[in-house]
Amino acid sequence: MNLHEYQSKNIFSQYGIPIPRGRVAVNPTEALQIAEELGGQVVVKSQVLTGGRGKAGGIRLAKSAEETAALTAQILAMQIKGLPVRKVLIDQAVNIEREIYLGVTNDRAMKKPVLMASAEGGVDIEEIARRSPQKVIKVYIDPLLGLRPYQARDIAVAIDLPREYWRPFVEISLNLWRVYQDHDATLAEINPLVVTKDHNLLALDGKMAIDDTALFRHPDLAEMRDIDLETSAETDARKFGISYIKLDGEIGCMVNGAGLAMATMDIIKLCGGSPANFLDVGGGASAEKVAAAFRIILSDAHVKAVLVNIFGGITRGDEVARGILEAIQEVKISVPMVVRLVGTNAEDGLRILSAARMETAVSLLDAARKVVAMARGTQA
Ligand code: GDP
Ligand code: MN
Repeated sequence: MNLHEYQSKNIFSQYGIPIPRGRVAVNPTEALQIAEELGGQVVVKSQVLTGGRGKAGGIRLAKSAEETAALTAQILAMQIKGLPVRKVLIDQAVNIEREIYLGVTNDRAMKKPVLMASAEGGVDIEEIARRSPQKVIKVYIDPLLGLRPYQARDIAVAIDLPREYWRPFVEISLNLWRVYQDHDATLAEINPLVVTKDHNLLALDGKMAIDDTALFRHPDLAEMRDIDLETSAETDARKFGISYIKLDGEIGCMVNGAGLAMATMDIIKLCGGSPANFLDVGGGASAEKVAAAFRIILSDAHVKAVLVNIFGGITRGDEVARGILEAIQEVKISVPMVVRLVGTNAEDGLRILSAARMETAVSLLDAARKVVAMARGTQA
Protein backbone atom coordinates (compact mmCIF):
# COMPACT_ATOMS: atom_id res chain seq x y z
CA MET A 1 0.00 0.00 0.00
CA ASN A 2 1.35 3.39 -0.99
CA LEU A 3 0.85 6.54 1.06
CA HIS A 4 0.24 9.96 -0.44
CA GLU A 5 2.93 12.60 -0.28
CA TYR A 6 1.10 14.55 2.44
CA GLN A 7 0.61 11.40 4.55
CA SER A 8 4.26 10.42 4.21
CA LYS A 9 5.47 13.93 5.03
CA ASN A 10 3.21 14.08 8.11
CA ILE A 11 4.89 10.93 9.38
CA PHE A 12 8.34 12.31 8.49
CA SER A 13 7.55 15.43 10.46
CA GLN A 14 6.49 13.40 13.53
CA TYR A 15 9.92 11.79 13.37
CA GLY A 16 11.75 15.09 13.33
CA ILE A 17 12.41 15.33 9.59
CA PRO A 18 11.93 18.97 8.53
CA ILE A 19 9.21 19.55 5.91
CA PRO A 20 7.76 22.76 4.42
CA ARG A 21 4.69 24.26 6.11
CA GLY A 22 1.54 23.25 4.29
CA ARG A 23 -1.89 21.61 4.28
CA VAL A 24 -4.21 19.64 2.03
CA ALA A 25 -7.11 21.21 0.11
CA VAL A 26 -9.95 19.55 -1.78
CA ASN A 27 -11.24 22.67 -3.56
CA PRO A 28 -10.01 26.11 -4.72
CA THR A 29 -11.64 27.93 -1.76
CA GLU A 30 -9.73 25.87 0.77
CA ALA A 31 -6.55 26.28 -1.28
CA LEU A 32 -7.01 30.07 -1.28
CA GLN A 33 -7.41 30.10 2.49
CA ILE A 34 -4.29 27.99 3.06
CA ALA A 35 -2.26 30.19 0.69
CA GLU A 36 -3.37 33.27 2.63
CA GLU A 37 -2.37 31.67 5.93
CA LEU A 38 1.05 30.67 4.59
CA GLY A 39 1.64 34.02 2.88
CA GLY A 40 4.07 34.50 0.00
CA GLN A 41 4.57 32.01 -2.78
CA VAL A 42 3.22 28.48 -2.50
CA VAL A 43 3.45 25.26 -4.47
CA VAL A 44 0.24 23.47 -5.52
CA LYS A 45 0.91 19.74 -5.55
CA SER A 46 -1.45 17.09 -6.92
CA GLN A 47 -1.84 14.15 -4.52
CA VAL A 48 -1.87 11.05 -6.70
CA LEU A 49 -0.19 7.72 -6.10
CA THR A 50 2.30 7.93 -8.95
CA GLY A 51 5.68 9.47 -9.58
CA GLY A 52 6.51 12.07 -12.18
CA ARG A 53 3.80 14.51 -11.14
CA GLY A 54 6.12 17.43 -11.76
CA LYS A 55 6.76 16.44 -15.38
CA ALA A 56 3.04 15.83 -15.92
CA GLY A 57 2.18 19.39 -14.84
CA GLY A 58 0.82 18.35 -11.47
CA ILE A 59 3.22 20.52 -9.43
CA ARG A 60 2.83 24.28 -9.98
CA LEU A 61 4.26 27.38 -8.36
CA ALA A 62 1.72 30.10 -7.42
CA LYS A 63 2.66 33.73 -6.77
CA SER A 64 -0.55 34.77 -5.03
CA ALA A 65 -3.55 33.33 -3.19
CA GLU A 66 -5.75 33.98 -6.25
CA GLU A 67 -3.34 32.13 -8.52
CA THR A 68 -3.29 29.28 -5.98
CA ALA A 69 -7.05 28.95 -6.28
CA ALA A 70 -6.91 29.03 -10.09
CA LEU A 71 -4.11 26.44 -10.28
CA THR A 72 -5.93 24.23 -7.76
CA ALA A 73 -9.02 24.25 -9.99
CA GLN A 74 -6.86 23.31 -12.98
CA ILE A 75 -5.00 20.51 -11.19
CA LEU A 76 -8.16 19.04 -9.64
CA ALA A 77 -9.56 18.69 -13.17
CA MET A 78 -6.50 16.74 -14.32
CA GLN A 79 -5.82 13.05 -14.68
CA ILE A 80 -2.21 12.07 -14.06
CA LYS A 81 -1.19 8.77 -15.66
CA GLY A 82 -4.87 7.86 -15.69
CA LEU A 83 -5.44 8.74 -12.03
CA PRO A 84 -7.94 11.43 -11.00
CA VAL A 85 -6.70 14.17 -8.67
CA ARG A 86 -8.95 14.57 -5.61
CA LYS A 87 -6.65 16.51 -3.31
CA VAL A 88 -3.84 19.00 -3.58
CA LEU A 89 -1.15 19.84 -1.05
CA ILE A 90 -0.49 23.55 -0.65
CA ASP A 91 3.09 23.97 0.58
CA GLN A 92 5.09 27.09 1.30
CA ALA A 93 7.44 27.54 -1.66
CA VAL A 94 11.14 27.06 -1.08
CA ASN A 95 14.19 28.54 -2.77
CA ILE A 96 16.24 25.57 -3.84
CA GLU A 97 20.03 25.50 -3.92
CA ARG A 98 20.40 21.79 -4.58
CA GLU A 99 18.26 18.63 -4.85
CA ILE A 100 19.37 15.33 -3.31
CA TYR A 101 17.81 11.87 -3.40
CA LEU A 102 17.53 9.91 -0.13
CA GLY A 103 15.65 6.65 0.41
CA VAL A 104 15.48 3.45 2.43
CA THR A 105 14.24 0.26 0.86
CA ASN A 106 14.71 -3.49 1.10
CA ASP A 107 17.36 -5.17 -1.03
CA ARG A 108 16.08 -8.71 -1.53
CA ALA A 109 19.30 -9.98 -3.09
CA MET A 110 21.35 -8.71 -0.13
CA LYS A 111 18.59 -9.67 2.33
CA LYS A 112 19.04 -6.33 4.03
CA PRO A 113 17.56 -2.85 4.09
CA VAL A 114 19.59 -0.33 2.16
CA LEU A 115 20.01 3.44 2.48
CA MET A 116 20.45 5.06 -0.93
CA ALA A 117 21.42 8.57 -1.84
CA SER A 118 22.35 10.53 -4.91
CA ALA A 119 23.92 13.94 -5.30
CA GLU A 120 21.57 14.58 -8.21
CA GLY A 121 18.04 14.11 -6.88
CA GLY A 122 14.78 15.47 -8.19
CA VAL A 123 12.60 14.57 -11.12
CA ASP A 124 15.28 12.72 -13.11
CA ILE A 125 16.37 10.17 -10.51
CA GLU A 126 15.03 7.14 -12.43
CA GLU A 127 16.98 8.26 -15.48
CA ILE A 128 20.15 8.76 -13.42
CA ALA A 129 19.77 5.35 -11.74
CA ARG A 130 19.43 3.71 -15.15
CA ARG A 131 22.18 5.58 -16.99
CA SER A 132 24.77 6.00 -14.26
CA PRO A 133 24.01 3.58 -11.42
CA GLN A 134 27.36 4.40 -9.82
CA LYS A 135 25.89 7.82 -8.95
CA VAL A 136 23.46 6.15 -6.55
CA ILE A 137 25.41 5.52 -3.34
CA LYS A 138 24.26 2.62 -1.16
CA VAL A 139 24.98 1.44 2.35
CA TYR A 140 23.47 -1.77 3.64
CA ILE A 141 21.86 -1.74 7.05
CA ASP A 142 22.27 -4.55 9.54
CA PRO A 143 18.66 -5.13 10.62
CA LEU A 144 19.72 -5.89 14.20
CA LEU A 145 22.09 -2.95 14.61
CA GLY A 146 20.03 -0.50 12.58
CA LEU A 147 21.54 2.37 10.60
CA ARG A 148 24.70 3.62 12.30
CA PRO A 149 25.56 7.34 12.27
CA TYR A 150 28.95 6.71 10.61
CA GLN A 151 27.19 5.05 7.68
CA ALA A 152 25.05 8.13 7.08
CA ARG A 153 28.16 10.31 7.41
CA ASP A 154 29.94 8.20 4.78
CA ILE A 155 27.03 8.89 2.43
CA ALA A 156 27.09 12.62 3.13
CA VAL A 157 30.74 12.64 2.10
CA ALA A 158 30.14 10.45 -0.95
CA ILE A 159 27.49 12.83 -2.32
CA ASP A 160 29.77 15.85 -1.76
CA LEU A 161 27.58 17.48 0.82
CA PRO A 162 29.37 20.47 2.42
CA ARG A 163 30.47 19.83 5.98
CA GLU A 164 27.96 22.23 7.55
CA TYR A 165 25.14 19.86 6.44
CA TRP A 166 26.63 16.62 7.71
CA ARG A 167 25.00 16.78 11.14
CA PRO A 168 21.43 17.49 9.92
CA PHE A 169 21.88 14.99 7.08
CA VAL A 170 22.86 12.22 9.52
CA GLU A 171 19.92 13.19 11.72
CA ILE A 172 17.48 13.00 8.78
CA SER A 173 18.90 9.67 7.60
CA LEU A 174 18.58 8.10 11.06
CA ASN A 175 15.03 9.41 11.38
CA LEU A 176 14.10 8.13 7.92
CA TRP A 177 15.42 4.73 8.94
CA ARG A 178 13.23 4.83 12.08
CA VAL A 179 10.22 5.80 9.95
CA TYR A 180 10.93 2.84 7.66
CA GLN A 181 11.33 0.38 10.52
CA ASP A 182 8.48 1.54 12.76
CA HIS A 183 5.92 1.42 9.92
CA ASP A 184 6.95 -1.89 8.33
CA ALA A 185 7.63 0.07 5.17
CA THR A 186 9.09 -1.38 2.00
CA LEU A 187 10.07 2.13 0.92
CA ALA A 188 10.61 5.46 2.67
CA GLU A 189 11.88 8.04 0.25
CA ILE A 190 12.66 11.76 0.14
CA ASN A 191 13.06 13.06 -3.40
CA PRO A 192 14.11 15.76 -3.40
CA LEU A 193 15.75 16.41 -0.09
CA VAL A 194 16.75 20.00 -0.74
CA VAL A 195 19.47 22.32 0.43
CA THR A 196 17.67 25.67 0.60
CA LYS A 197 19.20 29.02 -0.32
CA ASP A 198 19.04 29.89 3.38
CA HIS A 199 21.12 26.82 4.27
CA ASN A 200 18.61 24.31 5.59
CA LEU A 201 17.83 20.74 4.65
CA LEU A 202 14.16 20.14 3.90
CA ALA A 203 12.14 17.12 2.70
CA LEU A 204 10.23 18.60 -0.25
CA ASP A 205 8.64 15.37 -1.44
CA GLY A 206 7.84 12.17 0.45
CA LYS A 207 6.85 8.68 -0.51
CA MET A 208 6.13 5.61 1.61
CA ALA A 209 5.07 2.10 0.69
CA ILE A 210 3.83 -0.14 3.49
CA ASP A 211 4.08 -3.94 3.45
CA ASP A 212 0.44 -5.05 3.10
CA THR A 213 1.01 -8.16 5.19
CA ALA A 214 2.03 -5.96 8.14
CA LEU A 215 -1.01 -3.68 7.99
CA PHE A 216 -2.78 -5.66 10.71
CA ARG A 217 -0.41 -4.12 13.22
CA HIS A 218 -0.84 -0.61 11.83
CA PRO A 219 -4.60 0.08 11.95
CA ASP A 220 -3.89 3.82 11.69
CA LEU A 221 -2.07 3.31 8.38
CA ALA A 222 -4.64 0.82 7.07
CA GLU A 223 -7.24 3.56 7.51
CA MET A 224 -5.29 5.87 5.24
CA ARG A 225 -5.91 3.59 2.27
CA ASP A 226 -7.43 5.46 -0.62
CA ILE A 227 -10.07 3.00 -1.88
CA ASP A 228 -11.04 5.62 -4.43
CA LEU A 229 -7.78 5.16 -6.25
CA GLU A 230 -7.54 1.40 -6.10
CA THR A 231 -8.52 -0.85 -8.97
CA SER A 232 -11.73 -2.78 -8.27
CA ALA A 233 -9.70 -6.02 -8.53
CA GLU A 234 -7.54 -4.97 -5.57
CA THR A 235 -10.55 -3.93 -3.50
CA ASP A 236 -12.41 -7.16 -4.33
CA ALA A 237 -9.40 -9.34 -3.53
CA ARG A 238 -8.94 -7.75 -0.13
CA LYS A 239 -12.65 -7.99 0.71
CA PHE A 240 -12.85 -11.72 -0.05
CA GLY A 241 -9.48 -12.67 1.46
CA ILE A 242 -8.04 -13.60 -1.94
CA SER A 243 -4.32 -13.11 -2.63
CA TYR A 244 -3.99 -11.68 -6.12
CA ILE A 245 -0.97 -10.42 -7.98
CA LYS A 246 -1.33 -9.33 -11.58
CA LEU A 247 1.35 -10.50 -14.00
CA ASP A 248 2.01 -9.95 -17.69
CA GLY A 249 0.86 -13.23 -19.27
CA GLU A 250 -2.41 -14.39 -20.82
CA ILE A 251 -3.50 -17.39 -18.76
CA GLY A 252 -5.65 -16.57 -15.74
CA CYS A 253 -5.14 -18.87 -12.75
CA MET A 254 -7.45 -19.65 -9.85
CA VAL A 255 -5.83 -21.94 -7.31
CA ASN A 256 -6.28 -22.86 -3.65
CA GLY A 257 -3.01 -22.59 -1.76
CA ALA A 258 -0.04 -20.34 -2.39
CA GLY A 259 2.43 -23.17 -3.06
CA LEU A 260 0.04 -24.83 -5.48
CA ALA A 261 -0.53 -21.48 -7.18
CA MET A 262 3.21 -21.10 -7.75
CA ALA A 263 3.52 -24.67 -9.02
CA THR A 264 0.63 -23.95 -11.39
CA MET A 265 2.40 -20.90 -12.77
CA ASP A 266 5.60 -22.92 -13.24
CA ILE A 267 3.87 -25.67 -15.14
CA ILE A 268 2.06 -23.22 -17.40
CA LYS A 269 5.47 -21.82 -18.33
CA LEU A 270 6.84 -25.33 -18.82
CA CYS A 271 4.06 -25.91 -21.35
CA GLY A 272 4.98 -22.75 -23.23
CA GLY A 273 2.33 -20.38 -21.85
CA SER A 274 2.60 -17.51 -19.43
CA PRO A 275 0.45 -16.82 -16.35
CA ALA A 276 -1.62 -13.63 -16.19
CA ASN A 277 -1.72 -13.68 -12.42
CA PHE A 278 -1.01 -15.36 -9.14
CA LEU A 279 -4.26 -16.04 -7.35
CA ASP A 280 -4.80 -17.96 -4.13
CA VAL A 281 -8.50 -18.23 -3.21
CA GLY A 282 -7.50 -19.54 0.22
CA GLY A 283 -9.59 -22.01 2.19
CA GLY A 284 -13.19 -22.80 1.25
CA ALA A 285 -14.64 -22.16 -2.16
CA SER A 286 -18.09 -20.68 -1.75
CA ALA A 287 -19.82 -19.60 -4.96
CA GLU A 288 -19.47 -16.01 -3.76
CA LYS A 289 -15.72 -16.31 -3.36
CA VAL A 290 -15.22 -18.18 -6.65
CA ALA A 291 -17.32 -15.54 -8.42
CA ALA A 292 -15.14 -12.80 -6.93
CA ALA A 293 -12.04 -14.66 -8.10
CA PHE A 294 -13.42 -14.92 -11.65
CA ARG A 295 -14.29 -11.22 -11.66
CA ILE A 296 -10.77 -10.37 -10.54
CA ILE A 297 -9.12 -12.62 -13.13
CA LEU A 298 -11.31 -11.37 -15.98
CA SER A 299 -10.80 -7.71 -15.08
CA ASP A 300 -7.46 -8.19 -16.87
CA ALA A 301 -8.11 -7.76 -20.58
CA HIS A 302 -5.01 -9.80 -21.48
CA VAL A 303 -6.52 -13.04 -20.16
CA LYS A 304 -7.23 -15.44 -23.05
CA ALA A 305 -7.97 -18.63 -21.08
CA VAL A 306 -8.44 -19.64 -17.44
CA LEU A 307 -7.05 -22.56 -15.49
CA VAL A 308 -8.78 -23.51 -12.25
CA ASN A 309 -6.62 -25.80 -10.13
CA ILE A 310 -8.18 -27.04 -6.89
CA PHE A 311 -6.77 -29.55 -4.47
CA GLY A 312 -9.59 -30.80 -2.26
CA GLY A 313 -8.57 -31.36 1.33
CA ILE A 314 -11.08 -29.97 3.78
CA THR A 315 -12.59 -28.22 0.76
CA ARG A 316 -14.71 -30.86 -1.00
CA GLY A 317 -14.57 -31.34 -4.77
CA ASP A 318 -18.34 -31.47 -5.22
CA GLU A 319 -18.73 -28.21 -3.30
CA VAL A 320 -16.09 -26.57 -5.45
CA ALA A 321 -17.81 -27.80 -8.62
CA ARG A 322 -21.16 -26.40 -7.49
CA GLY A 323 -19.44 -23.17 -6.48
CA ILE A 324 -17.94 -22.83 -9.95
CA LEU A 325 -21.27 -23.50 -11.69
CA GLU A 326 -23.07 -21.00 -9.49
CA ALA A 327 -20.31 -18.44 -10.00
CA ILE A 328 -20.46 -18.66 -13.79
CA GLN A 329 -24.19 -17.99 -13.63
CA GLU A 330 -23.28 -14.67 -12.07
CA VAL A 331 -20.04 -13.83 -13.88
CA LYS A 332 -20.13 -14.33 -17.60
CA ILE A 333 -16.90 -16.13 -18.55
CA SER A 334 -15.92 -14.84 -21.95
CA VAL A 335 -12.84 -17.04 -22.45
CA PRO A 336 -12.27 -20.82 -22.50
CA MET A 337 -11.60 -22.49 -19.17
CA VAL A 338 -10.32 -25.81 -17.87
CA VAL A 339 -10.84 -27.10 -14.33
CA ARG A 340 -8.44 -29.50 -12.70
CA LEU A 341 -9.78 -31.09 -9.55
CA VAL A 342 -8.21 -33.72 -7.26
CA GLY A 343 -8.59 -34.80 -3.65
CA THR A 344 -11.67 -35.16 -1.50
CA ASN A 345 -14.80 -35.94 -3.57
CA ALA A 346 -12.98 -35.08 -6.79
CA GLU A 347 -14.88 -37.73 -8.80
CA ASP A 348 -18.22 -36.21 -7.79
CA GLY A 349 -16.94 -32.78 -8.64
CA LEU A 350 -15.66 -33.79 -12.07
CA ARG A 351 -18.98 -35.54 -12.84
CA ILE A 352 -20.92 -32.38 -11.95
CA LEU A 353 -18.65 -30.23 -14.13
CA SER A 354 -18.68 -32.64 -17.09
CA ALA A 355 -22.47 -32.80 -16.94
CA ALA A 356 -22.43 -29.01 -17.31
CA ARG A 357 -20.17 -29.42 -20.39
CA MET A 358 -17.15 -27.92 -18.74
CA GLU A 359 -13.62 -28.85 -19.78
CA THR A 360 -11.94 -30.79 -16.96
CA ALA A 361 -8.63 -32.48 -16.22
CA VAL A 362 -7.23 -34.73 -13.54
CA SER A 363 -3.50 -34.21 -13.96
CA LEU A 364 -2.01 -30.75 -13.70
CA LEU A 365 0.19 -31.35 -16.74
CA ASP A 366 -2.86 -32.29 -18.81
CA ALA A 367 -4.71 -29.17 -17.57
CA ALA A 368 -1.74 -26.91 -18.34
CA ARG A 369 -1.37 -28.30 -21.89
CA LYS A 370 -5.07 -27.78 -22.48
CA VAL A 371 -5.15 -24.22 -21.21
CA VAL A 372 -2.03 -23.22 -23.18
CA ALA A 373 -3.64 -24.59 -26.36
CA MET A 374 -6.87 -22.74 -25.52
CA ALA A 375 -5.00 -19.47 -25.07
CA ARG A 376 -3.39 -19.98 -28.47
CA GLY A 377 -6.76 -20.73 -30.00
CA THR A 378 -5.78 -24.29 -31.00
CA GLN A 379 -7.00 -27.65 -29.69
CA ALA A 380 -4.88 -29.66 -27.28
P1 GDP B 1 7.30 14.49 -8.32
O1 GDP B 1 7.54 15.06 -9.69
O2 GDP B 1 6.02 13.69 -8.29
O3 GDP B 1 8.45 13.73 -7.79
O4 GDP B 1 7.04 15.73 -7.33
P2 GDP B 1 8.03 16.59 -6.38
O5 GDP B 1 7.30 16.93 -5.16
O6 GDP B 1 9.32 15.90 -6.20
O7 GDP B 1 8.25 17.93 -7.20
C1 GDP B 1 8.90 17.93 -8.45
C2 GDP B 1 9.87 19.08 -8.55
O8 GDP B 1 9.19 20.30 -8.37
C3 GDP B 1 10.97 19.07 -7.50
O9 GDP B 1 12.03 18.23 -7.83
C4 GDP B 1 11.37 20.54 -7.48
O10 GDP B 1 12.32 20.79 -8.48
C5 GDP B 1 10.07 21.26 -7.82
N1 GDP B 1 9.51 21.85 -6.59
C6 GDP B 1 8.71 21.26 -5.68
N2 GDP B 1 8.44 22.10 -4.65
C7 GDP B 1 9.13 23.25 -4.91
C8 GDP B 1 9.29 24.51 -4.23
O11 GDP B 1 8.77 24.75 -3.15
N3 GDP B 1 10.06 25.45 -4.85
C9 GDP B 1 10.65 25.23 -6.05
N4 GDP B 1 11.39 26.19 -6.58
N5 GDP B 1 10.53 24.08 -6.71
C10 GDP B 1 9.79 23.10 -6.16
MN1 MN C 1 9.69 13.79 -6.17
